[in-house]
This record gives sequence, structure tokens and C-alpha cells, in this order.
Amino acid sequence: MQYINDALKSKKLFLLDIDGTVSLDADWIDGALDFLNLVKKRGGKYVFITNNSTKGIEDYVEKYTKMGLKVDRSNFLTAGYVTAHFLKEHHEQDLLYVLGTKSFIRELKSFGLSVTETVPEEGPGNIKAAVVGFDSELTYQKVTDICRLLTAEDVKYYATNRDLACPVSFGFIPDCGAICGMIACAAGREPEYLGKPNPMMVTMAAEENGYRKEDILVIGDRLYTDIACGLNAGVDTLAVFTGEAKEEDLKTTEFPPEYYCGTIKELYDLLKCT
Ligand SMILES: [Mg+2]
Repeated sequence: MQYINDALKSKKLFLLDIDGTVSLDADWIDGALDFLNLVKKRGGKYVFITNNSTKGIEDYVEKYTKMGLKVDRSNFLTAGYVTAHFLKEHHEQDLLYVLGTKSFIRELKSFGLSVTETVPEEGPGNIKAAVVGFDSELTYQKVTDICRLLTAEDVKYYATNRDLACPVSFGFIPDCGAICGMIACAAGREPEYLGKPNPMMVTMAAEENGYRKEDILVIGDRLYTDIACGLNAGVDTLAVFTGEAKEEDLKTTEFPPEYYCGTIKELYDLLKCT
């Protein structure tokens, strides 16, 4: 941790990335649980903001409850959830083709959106937009279908997040950005990404919880998504080095965080004494 100041001590709403910041698979990163309990004890609020769209918010609530943290729906904002909000606003009446997990599709349908998982051989028909999530149930048939659909230039194209790889216990697996990269190689089209670094997640969290920008700290392990998201939203950011970013990356990054520390445990150790 490079320093702690009154601005950092006064933060009330902590927006935390999940993978590589507070947990990896089903394990807490050292100090994360202590930090989250400290936030609550100090009268603050934590909201997890994740680009991982393999799980819906209900799935995250269940997972973290099993991992021993008291959470409800209000503690999570996922790229899937903000994507659903965006689609509700812009495509409420349209049929959408979705390449994503069953959980992601369930979440989109819960917003009253019309979703199909098939593309007619003869053309897009009523389909007005294609939506890609981080699909851990990906098949080559889905990839083929979306490439066929995207040949229709008037079909809009969105994706939840531009992350290329997702950290897991043994290393990394391809994330939504890598799936979109594969599609781009064939279809020659890039989606509009709605998750981080798009500032939508931070502005939604601030509005839903009633906090001002200066009360908010975004914490994450990726400079070009987590930290860029905070910068785009105009709030303070803190990078941790338990996922993708390394301390030496700070010398060259376009997205410098206001604060940084090795692990979330370092932040806990400093804040608990204040
Ligand atoms: Mg991460």
C-alpha cells in the first residue's frame, strides 16, 4: 500500500471486482472476508461488480452465502445485469439472439426480454440484435449461428465484457472478449461492450444505493477494465495485485489507479487501525 489518507478512510461504498480481487473459484483471497466484514462494521456498503456473466445474481448470492458471507441481491451488479438493463431500455420489443450460459439467458428472460438460442437457416428473420456473454457452455454450433446472423449488417451486436481471459485456480480460461475475438476473425464485426470499463455499473451502483461519487472506491485487479471503469465514472480506484495486474504495470498503464496495494489484506490491515 503506497499511502492511506483521509479521502480513502472516508469511503462508504466499495465496488469490488470478484475474480482475482476477492476470490478465485470458490476460495476467498486472503483477507477478503475480513475486509468485507470491516466495511459493514464501519457502516459502509460493498457491492461486487463483475464482468463474469456465466452466473446470474441469484447464483452469486447462493455461492457467497455458502462461502460464509452475508449477502443479498443488492450486493451484486454483474455485466449480465447491466446488459439486461441496457437491452430493456433499447430493445424491449425486439427478438434477441443470445450466445451465453443458461444462467445468463434466464436472467435476460427475467427482465421480460424475448430471447432465442437459434438462428433460422434462411436469415435473421425477426432477430434485431445479437448478444454475447462469457459462455462457459460454448459450442461450435453457437459460434457458427452467430457468424451467420452477423452477416446481416442491420443486426446490432453487443457483448457483456471485453476481458480476454478469466483467472481460475490453475491460471486462465478464455473469457467473453476472447469469444468475441474468435467471432471477429470470421465475421469481421466487433460488439459494443456493456460491462467494465463502460461506467454503467458504477453509475447504477451509486444511484441504487444513494451515494455520491466521492464516497465510492472501485477495487480491482485489472487496469483496463476495473480501474478504467472507475476512471470513466469519475470515482477513486484502488488496484490489487492478486490477479492480472502487476505493480510494474503501473509505470506504463493508460489507466493509473489513485491507490494500489499488493492484496486486499493490506488494505484491511491499514483500515482496521483507523
Ligand atoms: Mg478480476
